[in-house]
Amino acid sequence: MPFTLHGLPVSKGIAIGHAHMVSHALLEVNHYHVADRHLTAELSRFDEALTTVRSELTGLKATAATGQAHTEVGAFVDLQIMLLADPMLVESARNLISQHRCNAEWALVQQMELLVEQFEEIEDAYLRERKADVVQVVERMVKVLLGQPGHLPARRRDGLGTIIVAHDLAPSDTIGFRDHNIAGFVTDVGGPTSHTAIVARSLKIPAVVALHYVRHLVEEDELLIIDGTRGILIVSPTPEIVEEYHLRKAELELERSKLNRLKDTRPTTLDGEDVMLLANIEGPKDAVAVKAANADGVGLYRTEFLFMGRDELPDEEEQFEAYRAVLKSMPGKPITIRTFDVGADKALNGGQTRFEPNPALGLRAIRYSLAEPQMFLTQLRALFRASLFGQLKIMIPMLSHAHEIDQTLHLIDRAKAELRADRMKFDERVPIGGMVEVPAAALALGMFVRRLAFLSIGTNDLIQYTLAIDRADEAVAHLYDPLHPAVLELIAGTIQVGVKYSLPVSVCGEMAGDPAYTFLLLGMGLRQFSMHPSKILEVKQQVLRADLGELAPRVQRILKMDEPARIREAVERLAL
Ligand code: PEP
Ligand code: MG
Repeated sequence: MPFTLHGLPVSKGIAIGHAHMVSHALLEVNHYHVADRHLTAELSRFDEALTTVRSELTGLKATAATGQAHTEVGAFVDLQIMLLADPMLVESARNLISQHRCNAEWALVQQMELLVEQFEEIEDAYLRERKADVVQVVERMVKVLLGQPGHLPARRRDGLGTIIVAHDLAPSDTIGFRDHNIAGFVTDVGGPTSHTAIVARSLKIPAVVALHYVRHLVEEDELLIIDGTRGILIVSPTPEIVEEYHLRKAELELERSKLNRLKDTRPTTLDGEDVMLLANIEGPKDAVAVKAANADGVGLYRTEFLFMGRDELPDEEEQFEAYRAVLKSMPGKPITIRTFDVGADKALNGGQTRFEPNPALGLRAIRYSLAEPQMFLTQLRALFRASLFGQLKIMIPMLSHAHEIDQTLHLIDRAKAELRADRMKFDERVPIGGMVEVPAAALALGMFVRRLAFLSIGTNDLIQYTLAIDRADEAVAHLYDPLHPAVLELIAGTIQVGVKYSLPVSVCGEMAGDPAYTFLLLGMGLRQFSMHPSKILEVKQQVLRADLGELAPRVQRILKMDEPARIREAVERLAL
């Protein structure tokens, strides 16, 4: 009987294959007492396992470096190698063996559980999920201690691949996947920023996580289909379903190879209008992906990522180096660097001294920067110093008042004056732009137009503030609707004001990278899109299919509608 399980889609694509269960070694650990006379031998057994796992990981790192170069995988392996030297794990486990006369694997699991508890208290979601590294490295050691090194099944005779079914997977486990015809993987646990998700995306292997009890519901060798786009796993599909998915898979593969061919094509519409496709980045290391996608530049560099997860703010020198690195990596292309957008869901470690009743409406973004003028001046000085190394544009987040713009421009003048006094060179004409992320800004654009050189619509926040739903709160996620008529009116209005006053306007929220909205935004008059680099080719494909002369009047009609179901239907029809 076929049945379907729903999880979180983390890596797109379709995989058809046979299940291979990867057991959870930690569940198989027994506790036993070690006699005094065997204690030294037990400690040596522990040390040997440590050495074996260390050399296994070092070997995997070398494979990762020579293979399809996954920097993420290399970094995870490094982290696990570091954990093998961490006294909190290794020395404490050794102490447990000596003091409690217990077996090595039991001691390791006890220590692991203690560390995992500590990780669970960390607020930062990324760091919290790093507890998976502790679990995975301990699991590896336990496997060695239990004498069951991981193995993968040989290639199947029916030509179908293997689908790994696991509780969780270590990135290092996945390195050998390519060589073993691994078609995809599914796991019980994991979130969108979990290791499994990150690695699946970098390996381009379809994956669904958070399926909860998948290991109990699937049997070894059972036929499975992963639909990584929709986040579903079909167990024991009928031959008709398999056939249908083979067809879909072939279509997707064709799509993907066609997309790659678009890399060097200019994003120009059918009626000859050139469109700019820019990238959103979080630091200098993202420049590689931006170049791979052949983006027209950077439309949003979220500089607050320099700050997050640390106790001290980076000084002027460190910031200067980061900004310069990005500017130098893309000569001749515009690089829009946004000043810090800290606060709300991007809190600083060292800065949370105050209880905030409602962080999304609190001291965030430009409000925070203006409340900390020394911090802001340091960033502005670093930015202007870096301006000599490329085509810099500076962007201010979350503006809602004219006086915020005035104060910002005043601080910019001060930063420039300081640099002149210090005899430091910089580009005097760096354009200063602002983000439209608050409905008040979208409704009172005159004050922006008079003071700024460009605008960028942050749809993520604009939707949150227009519909009064916290974008970080799962409980109201179903109310987050980019096609709400109020949201569309604000976006279209902003784009039109830009056209009227010849002020460049871009969209840099998630909407810009969703191909389902490309025609809608083009029809509103948008000519600059900024998105995650992995989305650029998909959006380019839409741009190449668009006929603006035909789209514009249809979108005007959509903007007059106020019935959500009709709007949705009409937006879908634009792409037909
Ligand atoms: C936005 O709000 O749409 C945006 C691009 O900024 P962030 O997602 O960083 O808040
Ligand atoms: Mg924002």
